[in-house]
Amino acid sequence: MRIDLHAHSTASDGTDSPAELVAAAVAAGLDVVALTDHDTVAGHAEAAEAVHTLPAGTLTVVPGAELSCVVDGISMHLLAYLFDPAEPAFAAERELVRTDRFRRGRAIVERCRELGADIGWEQVQRIAGDGSVGRPHIASALVEAGVVATVSDAFTADWLANGGRADVRKHETDPVEAVRLVRAAGGVPVFAHPGAVKRGQTVSDRVIADLAAAGLAALEVDHTDHDEETRARLRGLAGELGLLVTGSSDYHGSRKTVRLGEYTTDPAVYEALLAQATGAKPIGG
Ligand code: AMP
Ligand code: ZN
Ligand code: FE
Ligand code: FE
Repeated sequence: MRIDLHAHSTASDGTDSPAELVAAAVAAGLDVVALTDHDTVAGHAEAAEAVHTLPAGTLTVVPGAELSCVVDGISMHLLAYLFDPAEPAFAAERELVRTDRFRRGRAIVERCRELGADIGWEQVQRIAGDGSVGRPHIASALVEAGVVATVSDAFTADWLANGGRADVRKHETDPVEAVRLVRAAGGVPVFAHPGAVKRGQTVSDRVIADLAAAGLAALEVDHTDHDEETRARLRGLAGELGLLVTGSSDYHGSRKTVRLGEYTTDPAVYEALLAQATGAKPIGG
C-alpha cells in the first residue's frame, strides 16, 4: 500500500486539476491520495468523478483540506481529513479564510508593484483561476514578469516570505479552535509540516501539546521540508504526546519540485486515522 496524505490541485495552489491529480496518483503507483487544498473542498467533486471512471480498486481518494492557522503570530497549517463538508461552523471558517485571501492577494500585488514588479491582479486571477488564491499564484506572476526565476525564489525576505517586504497577513484560525472545528465536523486533524523552518518560525512543543490535548490526531513528520534531525525530534514528541505520525509529499504539481508519493504514510497509521473519522468516507478504492 502506497499512501500519500497531502496533495494540492488547481482548487488551491497546485497546478494539476483534481482529475489530473487522480491520474498522476495512479501513474505514481499510489493506492491512496488525500486531496488537501488550502481552505477549500472545491476540488472534491471533480476528484470523485475521476476516481469513479477508474476500474474498482485502482485508487482511493481521501477528501480533505489544509487550514491556515496562526498562534502567537506564527502561521501554521492543519490538515483535516474526512470531515463533513456541510457542517456549518467549519464551512463558515473556511469561507472566511478564502474570502480574506482575495483582499490580501490584492494587497500583496499592490506591494509588489510599489517594489517595482510589473505584475497585476488580473494576471494573478488568471493564474489562480477558480483556485483559493495564495502567495504561490503571485509567485508565478513574479516568475512570468521575470522578477524571479522560480516560484521558490519568490519566497525570500525581498518578496513573499513570511515577514518579507511584500508579505501581507490573511485571516488565519487559532489552531486549537481549528482542531475543535475539524473534530466537531467528524474529521481528523493532523499538524502539517510542523518543523518546516525554511517557511519561517515554527511553533513550540508547548503549542503542539495543547493541540494534542484539544484532539490532534497526528504530526506530519516525513515531509520534504524536514531534515533527518527534525524528523527524529518530531517522532519523539509524537510518541510522548500519544500522536500518530504521517508522511506525505505536499505535491503542488509544477509549482514545487517534490514528486507525488515521494513521502508516504504507514498503512496501519492510515487505518487508525480512518477509524477516527465520522464526517465522510474515502472515495473509490
Ligand atoms: P499562502 O497560503 O497564500 O499564505 O501561501 C503559503 C503557501 O506558499 C504554502 O502552502 C506553500 O505552498 C508556499 N510556500 C511557503 N513558503 C514557501 C517556500 N519557502 N518555498 C516555496 N513555497 C513556499
Ligand atoms: Zn500550497
Ligand atoms: Fe502547508
Ligand atoms: Fe500543503
